[in-house]
Amino acid sequence: MNNIISQFVRPNIRKLQPYKSARSQAQSGILLDANENPYGQYNRYPDPNAQPLRRALAAYTDTPEDTIIAGNGSNELIDLIMRAFRGPIYIPEPTYGMYKVFAQINDIPITDDPTQANLAFYCSPNNPTGETINSIDFPGITVVDEAYWEFCNQPSFALRNNRTIVLRTLSKAYAAAAIRLGYAIANPEIIAILDRIKPPYNVNQLTQDAAIKLLQTPPDIATIISERQRLQQAFKELKIQTLPSQANFILFFLPQASKVQQTLAQKGLTIRDQSDKTPNALRLTIGTPEQNNQFLTQLKCVLQK
Ligand code: PMP
Repeated sequence: MNNIISQFVRPNIRKLQPYKSARSQAQSGILLDANENPYGQYNRYPDPNAQPLRRALAAYTDTPEDTIIAGNGSNELIDLIMRAFRGPIYIPEPTYGMYKVFAQINDIPITDDPTQANLAFYCSPNNPTGETINSIDFPGITVVDEAYWEFCNQPSFALRNNRTIVLRTLSKAYAAAAIRLGYAIANPEIIAILDRIKPPYNVNQLTQDAAIKLLQTPPDIATIISERQRLQQAFKELKIQTLPSQANFILFFLPQASKVQQTLAQKGLTIRDQSDKTPNALRLTIGTPEQNNQFLTQLKCVLQK
């Protein structure tokens, strides 16, 4: 292991003898090695390396195959990264709440001072602000969560340097949150570390098949982008402050944000209250044009009261 990376790896992971799963040893012939049932449609464990899926992801992201690992949603990869690398961790807030929760689950100290951290989690475009990050100069293991990357106009941080791990997902632009498929792009040494600690069959066969199929066509995000622009204009006309989002949601600000959220929820329209993290903030996910019209109508009703 390269010293630059290994200094950031937890000692228990450096010493770990990984599990050798049955299907990593043999995938064809008469398979009597994994206590599978010989009958049925879903009887075999899937390819533990999800190799054809990695190939499809490599083609989509224009990166080499050995720089990719797939996970059960990017959530699984966030957890794996925190199990592999040493803290303290730096998490610039406000951001996606699961970084902090996974850090707490994995007992990693959180620091507000990046110079004290070995690991950092950035999010670009950031959830919930929708803003992108232009440059990062963190010297440790640098995670950049690009879950919303397809909605922005920024170059990716993928493979920027050998310490950077980019996270992506099919849950957003690819409209496939239900299949649970996330992936990471990083130098092969980091990918090998994550491969050593991941559960053997973390991406199931149905998901591998569905993802390969989805990746054959680019994601269709044109309506979401034009609706984002239309909604920004509508907020402007209503004199409601927003942030200029590069994602599929808009953060907007209203006094008594929680009350507004609750009133809309009572009418069957749910948006996300973010006022615990950012004062007066509400996050609207961009829906279909009809759903967005419903939102604007209901919001105007609430504002008139
Ligand atoms: N990262 C960010 C920034 C997110 O907002 C979300 C989900 N809201 C995720 C990751 C989780 O993605 P997945 O569905 O791939 O687990």
